[in-house]
Amino acid sequence: MKIYNCFINNKWVKPHSGKWFYSENPANGEEWAKVSDCNSEDVNDAVKAAKDAFYEGEWSMISAAQRGRYLHRIGEVVTKYADRLGKVETKDNGKLPKNITPSLRQGQWLVDSWHYYGGMCDKFEGKLIPSEAPNIHNYMHWEPYGVVAQILPWNSPLGTLFWKLAPCLAAGNTVVLKPSEHASCSILELMEILIEAELPPGVINVVTGYGKSVGEPLIEHKDVRMVSFTGGTSGGRAVASIASKQTKPIVMELGGKSPQIILPDADIDLAVNGVVSGIFPAGGQSCISGSRILIHKSIFKEVTKKLLTISKKAVVGDPLDPKTHIGPIANKNHYENILKNISKATEDGCEIILDGRTHKKDKGYFVGPTIFSNVPNSSFLAQNEIFGPVISTEPWEDESEVIKKANDTIYGLAAGIWTKDTIKGMRLANRIESGTVYINNYFNAATQSPVGGYKQSGYGRENGWEGMRCFMQTKSVWLSTKPSEPDPFL
Ligand code: NAD
Repeated sequence: MKIYNCFINNKWVKPHSGKWFYSENPANGEEWAKVSDCNSEDVNDAVKAAKDAFYEGEWSMISAAQRGRYLHRIGEVVTKYADRLGKVETKDNGKLPKNITPSLRQGQWLVDSWHYYGGMCDKFEGKLIPSEAPNIHNYMHWEPYGVVAQILPWNSPLGTLFWKLAPCLAAGNTVVLKPSEHASCSILELMEILIEAELPPGVINVVTGYGKSVGEPLIEHKDVRMVSFTGGTSGGRAVASIASKQTKPIVMELGGKSPQIILPDADIDLAVNGVVSGIFPAGGQSCISGSRILIHKSIFKEVTKKLLTISKKAVVGDPLDPKTHIGPIANKNHYENILKNISKATEDGCEIILDGRTHKKDKGYFVGPTIFSNVPNSSFLAQNEIFGPVISTEPWEDESEVIKKANDTIYGLAAGIWTKDTIKGMRLANRIESGTVYINNYFNAATQSPVGGYKQSGYGRENGWEGMRCFMQTKSVWLSTKPSEPDPFL
């Protein structure tokens, strides 16, 4: 059994509680690792380490270009150990290796973050601002916040971490991380390999445990200057309410209930393959999963038939088997939630035309593609994030009506539009209230392109220039070259 302690000041330290909790492999239910059950004392130690590294250590003294060299080095170490990190994440949350390792090694989504922000460290230039008064000069420059708390979800620990950690360090902050209690191991494994990047002590620290016992004291800590949170919308509300007591800035990447709109002129095979890939391969455990499928009435039957045909082909099972298309649900708690929500939808009268519960196995937590048909947008199923392999379909006739429907949830994370008329697709994209819109594709992302939510899907952005700007504040400096100042009371 692997034992992971807390990572503070580049050292592995036992938790003050003297307690650990187990990580269970969701593919077979076996407990394979123990993770520290930290409390507020561990949080205090980690924040102190990050504070010392920021105010007294090397990190705030080195140049932005030197910070960039550290980030490039992290990128190289991650590439070197991509398989090791991927394997741990698969054991911890059941994610398919092919959905983790290539992007850790070849970039696009993950390892690119280190090189992109490594290069951006010394590109945040200040400016001289024209002043009204003679001999008074005003300039502004960018500064880090100091100690930043980063709180992570379980569905994509490395993915969600890299998008926030690379720009945060590039900006010059130091960090205390709190991974999810349901998937901490790949983040802790990352700390083991980062020793090779020789970062100064205290720049990155990790405390593990629960939202109440670790997350809350971390956000409340007076020396934490900013919070970056990825998780569910209700968790986000709790975090925002705690942070607001000290008016702490927060970046929030929250949940979604993303629509996929299929127009009558769509290339139907392209749309169906795109819709299926946009949710089922990750078992629906992705924030941007397109789970509300709004299909034009004239093609509703044909699209439904094709959705069923392709979804029935999915192989659900062991994530380490290369033939598997869909791995397990990441943890028991979430598996039970998904089953509860499928039952609730059927009790509400939604018509189930493909029931993923039939993929249940003796060991592990498996649910296959599940399709509900003719689901009104006002229903529980269409309004709530199930975060599982579950889609609802609904026919529509009028374009203005479908845009209203697409926008009619509390969320605004992503949306898909399928049409051969690209100009029309662009026009409709402008009317969708979400941070990302895909036209004739889904699920693409790049380090260079900002992601984030509208409405209750969050605020602030990750990736791109905005992703680094979030972790910085401006300082305006006024400088006088006047030889003398008149007495104001003469
Ligand atoms: P969650 O909100 O339950 O937990 C996220 C993290 O917050 C965990 O580390 C948890 O321990 C911590 N936490 C919970 N309550 C807290 C509190 N009161 N104070 C401090 N910390 C607290 O979310 P989850 O179930 O782990 O993740 C799934 C959710 O994450 C989904 O809603 C998904 O859409 C969302 N998500 C969003 C994005 C995005 O980029 N928008 C990416 C991945 C996941």
